[in-house]
Amino acid sequence: MLAHEIRVRVARGELSPLEVAQAYLKRVRELDPRVQAFLTLNPDLLEEAQRVDPGLPLAGLLVAVKDNIATRGLRTTAGSRLLERFVPPYEATAVARLKALGALVLGKTNLDEFGMGSSTEHSAFFPTRNPFDPSRVPGGSSGGSAAAVATDLAPLALGSDTGGSVRQPASFCGVLGLKPTYGRVSRYGLIAYASSLDQIGPMARSAKDLALLMDALAGPDPLDATSLDLSPRFQEALEAPLPPLRLGVVREGLSGNSPGVERALEEAVSLFQGLGFAVKEVSWPSLPLALAAYYILAPAEASSNLARYDGTLYGVRAEGEELWQVVEATRALFGLEVKRRILVGTFVLSSGYYEAYYERAQAFRRRLKAEARALFQEVDLLLLPTAPHPAFPLGARPDPLAMYREDLYTVGASLAGLPALSFPAGFEGHLPVGLQLLAPWGRDELLLRVAWAHEEATDRAFLRTPLGEAL
Ligand code: GLN
Repeated sequence: MLAHEIRVRVARGELSPLEVAQAYLKRVRELDPRVQAFLTLNPDLLEEAQRVDPGLPLAGLLVAVKDNIATRGLRTTAGSRLLERFVPPYEATAVARLKALGALVLGKTNLDEFGMGSSTEHSAFFPTRNPFDPSRVPGGSSGGSAAAVATDLAPLALGSDTGGSVRQPASFCGVLGLKPTYGRVSRYGLIAYASSLDQIGPMARSAKDLALLMDALAGPDPLDATSLDLSPRFQEALEAPLPPLRLGVVREGLSGNSPGVERALEEAVSLFQGLGFAVKEVSWPSLPLALAAYYILAPAEASSNLARYDGTLYGVRAEGEELWQVVEATRALFGLEVKRRILVGTFVLSSGYYEAYYERAQAFRRRLKAEARALFQEVDLLLLPTAPHPAFPLGARPDPLAMYREDLYTVGASLAGLPALSFPAGFEGHLPVGLQLLAPWGRDELLLRVAWAHEEATDRAFLRTPLGEAL
C-alpha cells in the first residue's frame, strides 16, 4: 500500500497505527537482512505507535530516515566510525515536523560516510544491496533510504542530496526522489557535508506520497537562516489539471548513456507529447563542466565542516597522550573517501590555489546558474537522465574518479540550487531506470505534478516492488 492509501485506511479507522507499525517491523525483520538498508531501528516504535493520535494528518505513516539526519535519543552515525555511538540530544526540524503530524521514525538508513559517495559502499559499516539485484549497489549516498522504500520496508523515507544523493539512488531503486529548491526544507539537524548544497529530500513510491511529505517538511525555520518562506501546498497542486508545458530535453555534451536510459528518455518524451507538452532539445552549455566545479566546491566546504570531528566535542575520542595525538588518532578513523575529500578541499582553499580553483569554481557556479535562468525563459521544465545507466555491480567503481562521474547529471541542479526530481521511467533488463526533471527556482510543486501525470498515464508500470509489499 502506498502512504496516501495507508492514510485513507487509518483515517477511516480500518487500520490502526499500531497494526501498520507491526506489519512493517515484521517485514523489516524478514527482508532487511537481504538488503541491509537499516543501521538502527527505533526500539520504541510499537510503544510510540500505540500512543499516536490517529486523528493527526500523518498518523499511521512510518518514515525511514537517512542516518545523517539527527533523531533525538536515536543513534545517528552519518555512516561514520566517528559518530558510531552518537545519540543526538536534539531533533532535526524535518523529523520534528513529521512527528508533530503523527508520523513515526521506523529506523535510520545506511549511507556513504557523511554523504560522500554514489553507491553506499563508502559506509563505514556495510554496503546496502539493490533490492532488484543483490549483487548491485542501490546508489548513494541515500542508498539505504532508497532500498528501504523500494523493498517497502517503509512507505516513506528521507534522504539528503548534496550532488545527487536523493535522485541517483531513487533512480537505481525504481522509486521517486525529490531534491527540493535549496532552502525549501530546513537543514537544521542535517549533519553538514557541503552546506551551500545540502538539502533534505523525500523519497517514496508515488508523487502523491512525495506531496504528502513535502506539505509537512517545507517551510521557514528559525533554526536555519537559509530556509525559505514559500507557501507549501503540494497535495493541492496535484489536484489541478496540468497545463500544456514547454519541456526542454538537455542532450548537449551528455553522451554514453546505456540503451535502457536512451529508451526511457524517448518513451518519456512521446508520453509527454501525448499529454500536450511542447518538447524541444535545449542546450545548457556549462552542464558537462558542473562535475569538475562540484568536486572542488563540495570538498572545500566538507574540509571546513568536518574540522569539528577532532575528538573533543562529540563522537568518538581516540586515545592519546597529547592533545594533538588525540586529534590525529580520532581523525584517522575517517574512511578513505572522506580523507580524500578533506585533502582536496584543504588544497583548493589554500593560499595560492584558492584563486585558481575555489574562486574559479564559484565563478563557474554563477555562470551555470545564469544559464539555467535563461533556459527557463524558453521552457518550463528540463528533462534529462538521472544517471547514465542503471545500478552497477558492487565493487565496480574502485577508481574514485569513476565514482565521481556517476554524478554527471545530478550536480547541475545542485550547484544552481534548483528543484530536481527523479522518477521511475523504464527498465533495462531487470533494473529500474529513472529520469530527472528540473524546474525553475521555487517551483518544486511543478515537478510533482508532472511526475504524477506520468504515473497516471503509465498506470504505475515502472513502480514495481520486486519483493512484494508490507500491506
Ligand atoms: N556523490 C556525490 C558526492 O559524493 C553526491 C553525494 C550527495 O549528494 N550527498 O559528493
